[in-house]
Amino acid sequence: MQSELMHLSDVSLAYHTVAGETTAIHHLNLTVYEGEFLAIVGPSGCGKTTVLSLIMGLLSPTAGSVRFAKENLRLGYMLQRDHLLDHRTVEKNVLLGLEVQHRLTEESRARAMNLLDTYGLGEFKSFRPQQLSGGMRQKVALIRTLALEPDLLLLDEPFSALDYQTRLNLSDEVYRIIRKEHKSAILVTHDISEAVSMADRVAVFSARPAQLKKLIDIGFPAELSPLERRRQPAFHDYFDRIWKELQP
Ligand code: ADP
Ligand code: MG
Repeated sequence: MQSELMHLSDVSLAYHTVAGETTAIHHLNLTVYEGEFLAIVGPSGCGKTTVLSLIMGLLSPTAGSVRFAKENLRLGYMLQRDHLLDHRTVEKNVLLGLEVQHRLTEESRARAMNLLDTYGLGEFKSFRPQQLSGGMRQKVALIRTLALEPDLLLLDEPFSALDYQTRLNLSDEVYRIIRKEHKSAILVTHDISEAVSMADRVAVFSARPAQLKKLIDIGFPAELSPLERRRQPAFHDYFDRIWKELQP
């Protein structure tokens, strides 16, 4: 039996604007288990980012609750935009989060530099972000997050600004890094293939207000990389199942 890391219990959320009320999330129940890779797929505007904002505590649920298995669970983010600072080197960008949180020590610095070396960015430490490709920048952003030793990674469409080839390669690398570092992750995406190629489970959301339509276990072994998964015959079966669930 896997242990729970986080649980959304009957969560609803409505946005209030001058134009009126928009219900973004409707009675959502969802558990994330320790060490798992959960993908959330749903149509654009259905409420996926809202779910992550609720988990981050940027929004409070209108009803229901967000519960974590331990206090001070550390969250890490990887977003569509990398938010790297152009006036800082790669190294200084990676150390930024540690600085801001007053956690920069010899040890945490060494760990961060080790992540850069391990994942092929060691020789770019003194580069500026604008000297890197989009895919490399996203990797730097991931390493900056990992340097903070998060318990749970929240990935909000982290590949969607990249060209297709980069996207495939980077998702493969990011998958490998997340597995190797034994992180739990939630990947939000509108790309069914991306979800099936990376996740242990896929939560399919309805159009807004987001409701959980289906939870689908992806039966690939964790050792299979996203690119390898895409070549499996079962890949297309999972794709079709999710695609059908997404039909209105
Ligand atoms: P997704 O990430 O699935 O594309 P979002 O969670 O960003 O969707 O948004 C869900 C719905 O809530 C959308 O209809 C969006 O217009 C609305 N929404 C998102 N943020 C706000 C906000 N700050 N104020 C009002 N409405 C919002
Ligand atoms: Mg979004």
